[in-house]
Amino acid sequence: MSNVENSASDPVTDSIFGKIARKEIPVDAVYEDDFVIAFRDMSPQAPVHILVIPKKPVENALALTDADREMAGAVLVAAAEVARRLGIAESGIRIVLNAGADGGQTVPYLHAHILGGRHLGWPPG
Ligand code: AMP
Repeated sequence: MSNVENSASDPVTDSIFGKIARKEIPVDAVYEDDFVIAFRDMSPQAPVHILVIPKKPVENALALTDADREMAGAVLVAAAEVARRLGIAESGIRIVLNAGADGGQTVPYLHAHILGGRHLGWPPG
């Protein structure tokens, strides 16, 4: 019997962050709780550049629903905690959620960028 139904791929869960969220790919976490994992971006755009991903797979901020209020709040709370732990809370941070093509999203799994450790220009490119 075909097993096609069970092997259907999903770009969100199959993404690199989906695998990190399921612990299939190990990361050096700088923070973790019941809702999120935070780890260093492999191509840092600032002296401190951390990604916070939810353990629940969601494509991006545009895919959030009422059911995600607690998780989405946990992403922001984690961002603040990461900033404190890494010593950039006093100087300031930027939290970025790229969503979709025009937003510059390249990994189809919700992730908040936490950038800090230098002055960040505005507007973004
Ligand atoms: P975005 O363009 O908002 O989708 O951001 C994706 C980010 O993920 C980029 O800043 C990448 O450098 C980063 N990234 C992709 N793969 C990994 C990985 N395996 N570990 C850490 N950061 C990653």
